[in-house]
Order: sequence, then structure tokens, then C-alpha cells
Amino acid sequence: MAYGYNGKILRVNLPNKEISTEELDDNFYRRYMGGRGFIGYYLLKELKPKIDPLGPDNKLIFATGVITGGRIGGSGRNSVGAKSPLTNGYGEAEAGGFWGPELKRTGYDGIIFEGKSEKPVYLWIGSEGPELRDASHLWGKTTLETESAIREELSDKLIKTALIGPAGEKLVRFACILNDITHSYGRTGMGAVMGSKNLKGVAVRGKRPPVVADSAKIKEITRWLNENYSRGFQDTGTAGGVMGLNESGGLPTRNFRDPSFEGAEAISGQTMRDTILIGRDTCYGCPIRCKRVVKVDEPYKVDPAYGGPEYETVASLGSNCGIDNLAAIAKGNEICAAYSLDTIGTGTTIGFAMECFENGILTKKDTDGIELRFGNADAMVKIVEMIAKREGIGDVLAEGCMRAAEKIGKGASEFAMHVKGQEFPMHEPRYKLGMGMGYAISPTGADHMQSIHDGGSGKHPGGLLRLGVLEGLPANDLSPGKVRMFVYQQHWNSFNNCAGLCVFLPYSYNQRAEIIQAITGWDVTTWELMKVGERGTTMARAFNMRAGFTRADDKFPKRMHEAFTSGPIAGVAVGEDRLEEAISVYYDMMGWDRETGVPTRGRLQELDIEWVADLL
Ligand code: SF4
Repeated sequence: MAYGYNGKILRVNLPNKEISTEELDDNFYRRYMGGRGFIGYYLLKELKPKIDPLGPDNKLIFATGVITGGRIGGSGRNSVGAKSPLTNGYGEAEAGGFWGPELKRTGYDGIIFEGKSEKPVYLWIGSEGPELRDASHLWGKTTLETESAIREELSDKLIKTALIGPAGEKLVRFACILNDITHSYGRTGMGAVMGSKNLKGVAVRGKRPPVVADSAKIKEITRWLNENYSRGFQDTGTAGGVMGLNESGGLPTRNFRDPSFEGAEAISGQTMRDTILIGRDTCYGCPIRCKRVVKVDEPYKVDPAYGGPEYETVASLGSNCGIDNLAAIAKGNEICAAYSLDTIGTGTTIGFAMECFENGILTKKDTDGIELRFGNADAMVKIVEMIAKREGIGDVLAEGCMRAAEKIGKGASEFAMHVKGQEFPMHEPRYKLGMGMGYAISPTGADHMQSIHDGGSGKHPGGLLRLGVLEGLPANDLSPGKVRMFVYQQHWNSFNNCAGLCVFLPYSYNQRAEIIQAITGWDVTTWELMKVGERGTTMARAFNMRAGFTRADDKFPKRMHEAFTSGPIAGVAVGEDRLEEAISVYYDMMGWDRETGVPTRGRLQELDIEWVADLL
């Protein structure tokens, strides 16, 4: 008997309305585990290299992990993947919440959507099994309106949904998918892929929770968690670190142009707690409750049904746009959730447009009279809405900052903060050099979820000590020792993604292995789990190599090579040569060809995925 998973994946052919079930063996689950592992496997096996990400040949894959729904803190995590319309490469985004565990309860571990439906539809999986239903009446509706309508027509208030709003329908390239309205599969434009398929959502309601192998062990670890999680995270949320980041030089400010933000305190997690916060939300089984619920009545009306901004949103719509107005940030967050926009892609693209405006590259003629300057909160809120609706300048910005810069011309590309077409998240690469390298080499473009947060004093390696890293290194180090730390951390982050476990939980490496053992009954070691993570990262790399990417795509914008002249990190930057050398060392450690960045057959054999070599 399989523990922790169902052994079944649903395949939905949208044009033919055919739904079938595929059964997979235990070795498939142990080798790939789920999330990025499943997505990388299916995208490599089933997509031709040059397909249009917004065409019918792309496939959209929802993938839980073996831990998802495993009745333990952090097990709400799951992923969505497809070829990305932002990067034209490997696309994938993760979210927490309750949707993933609920999908598991229906008897399926994942769903593969193929083709394009003739008319808008949504997939409903309830006690009668899966069924495609008409969504014509839902097209154009916000996520909240859609969820309410689906629950009403199926007469069940406990249905969980993964949906797009109008931005996904209009193929905004950084559109996201929302589950339960507030949990965002944010990055790489998965909402646009869903919209391109005329797929409005997936509604699930299951009755069969996955059976775990050792429930006593799960209870024991849960007891430990309840005694050891960080109350600080619960108190101020992920934005609780805004002030510390600003003091260190790590808070992106005015499109990564300035070294610190004078309005940091006004947008911090502490200020949010003391002003607009009315509740703390959570994901399946998690006591930490880092999610925010905010309410604002004026000058912007913000509906608490959409939760509240997390750190990435506070920085991208706040400091990165020079805005110190939490109510405006909360309003921007609400519009993004209602229309299904990635808040990171939205904020970084608006920061780009503001810098273009301040340099005369965009004028009021281009912006319908909007004074699109840093610090203009009303302008930020208005442009979020225009992007979501593809109105005016919003139609250009909806293509993402890289493509918008190409269209605008006049040197605008200098202000586009992206890697491979995906906008920068809110971690300053000149403050965290390992994170910066991670942006450059990530298969999904600029992405903080598979990277290392190399801040701190550098005196102690932290948790990495238990992986044999004996000394710490400062944030501004990019030696082979830092690359080694990066590689280990990346494998772990990728494992968490594959297994379906939130990275914020304070479990040690050994505890994570114990969780897998308790849920699946497999006698796994941390070494095996690191290999699962490496396998996922390597398959994503192989997907990009096959799509035509080269070593030359592993780079970041010119601005990141230039140091600030003042502020906490004045003088720190990574020269092109230094970054290139670090990337070479990284390729060596990953078993990728130093010149081309292609994974070698030997490393693919060692990872037990030699079939990938035959595709390259
Ligand atoms: S730490 Fe936060 S994001 Fe992670 S599972 Fe808990 S509530 Fe969700």
C-alpha cells in the first residue's frame, strides 16, 4: 500500500473534453516526489522544444508532493508548471493554502491540462469524479466573484478553488493563479497559460485524506513544532524584516536605483500590525499563521477577503515604487488578487515604468495623463488596474518589463530589472551576492525561491553546518565556498518544492527526512532527498537547454554590476568577470559543461535520469 499519495494523476484534454486517469508506480513517486519533479518530468517528456507558451501545445500541470496534505505544519504546499510566457523556458510557481491538500483528498496527486477548450470551462472534482463544466458566465469575473459563484452553483461552501481573474484571461504575461483567493502561484505567468486554454479554474472537494505510514511520529513532530516555531513571524508576518533589510541595504528601492528607503518604517510589518491588520491567516495544518488579513476604508477601500500584502508585495508595490503608503499597497495587493496578477511582476514592472517616466522616456501622453513618478501612490494603484485590464499603457506593461522596454525603446531596457524575462523579486543582489547569482542561473529567471538568503554576520553557516559547511561566509562573498553553500541550499529548496513542504517551517534537515519517512514509510536519508532536489533543478535546466537557452542567458542587468556610491552597501557590486567565474564554478559543482551549461550525461546518469541526456 502507498502512503502519503494516491498513485494517480488526472489528464484532461480540453478540446476533446476527455478525462483519463494515469496510475504511476512507487518508484516514480520516490524518484520525483511531486511538484517540480513531476512538472519537469512531464514537460520534458511531452512538450516539443519550440512551442508557443500561449498556444494549445503547451500543457498546464498542477502537482502536489508526497507531503502535501500530510497533516503536518507546512504541508499545504504544491506547484503549477508549464512553458513560461515570460521566459519562453521552464515555468513553475508554488503556493500554500488548502487547495493542494483538498486535491489530494479527491484521490489524485496532480492534473495535466492539454490543448485549448473551445469555450470557457472549469474542472470540478467532487464525489462523483471529475467533470468539465461551462464557465462562460464566469469569464470576466474577479477571483472572489468566481469562487462565490462556483460554491453557489455546486451548493457547497467548503469547495476549494484555483482560479484566474481577468488578467489571466487577457494573457497578461505575469498573470498568476490564486487558490482560495489569497494564495498565489505567482511567478512565471502560469495564469496566462491557464487563460490561453480557456480554463477559468479547478474546483475540488474530497473526502479521502491521504493515509500516512506513521501517524504517531507525525504527532510527535507536530508537538515539537508547536513548541518551537517563531512567534515573530506570526506577529508581523514576512514584512517584519523590512526595517532590518533597509538598514543593511537589502530593501529594493525605486527600481533598485537607490540604496535605502526613507519610508521603510511606514510600510513595515510592525506598522501593518499596528494599523490596518485585522487578522492572521494560515495554510493547511500550520501554526505559524504568517499570512496577513487587512482592512482599509479610506482613501482606498480594501476588502479583507483578499487577505493582505506579504513582504514581496510590500516591497514591490512599496519601496520599489518609492511608495510609503500601506493603504495604497494593500489596494494594489487586492487588485492583483482579484484580477490574478503576480504582485512581484506587477511592482517591478511599475517601478521600471516610473523610472522611464522620470527620465522622459514615457510622458503623460503615453500614460493617459498619469504623473507616473516614484512615490505617487494613486498612480501606482491606477496602473495596477490598467495592467490587469490591458488598458492604455497597461497593455504595454502587461507584456512584462523586458518586452515593454523593447517596445518603448529609447534606452528603456537599461531600467528593466529582469533575468530571462522574469522580473526581479525583492532581494537586492548587491546585498546578497549568492542570491544575485541565483537570479542569474535560475531556470525560471529571477527567482528567490530556489536561491540562498546569504545575509547575516557570516560567522556561522547556520543550518548548513549539518551538511558539512563548517564556516560561515559574509553576504558579499562570492567565492567557491559561497557557491558550495548555494548549491546545497538550492538542492534543499528544490527538495521542499518537490515534496510539498513550506520552507518557512523550522524543521531541521534530519526532521524533514523523518517527515518523509513518517508519511511515506520510505527509509530515506537526507542525501537521497538532496538528490531529489538536484534532479528537479537539473530537469528544469535541461528543459531550457532544449528550448534554446545558452550560458549567455545566465546573466543579470547592467545595473547590478554597478555599486551604490552611498548607503549601507556602498562600493559593493559584482563585476561581470566575478559573476562569470562564480557561474563556472557553479556549473562545475552541478556537473554541467563549463562552456555550454548543459548537464553532462555522467551527472544525468548519476541522478538516475539518463533519459534526459537523450533529449539534449
Ligand atoms: S509558514 Fe506561512 S506560508 Fe508557510 S505554511 Fe505556514 S502560514 Fe503558510
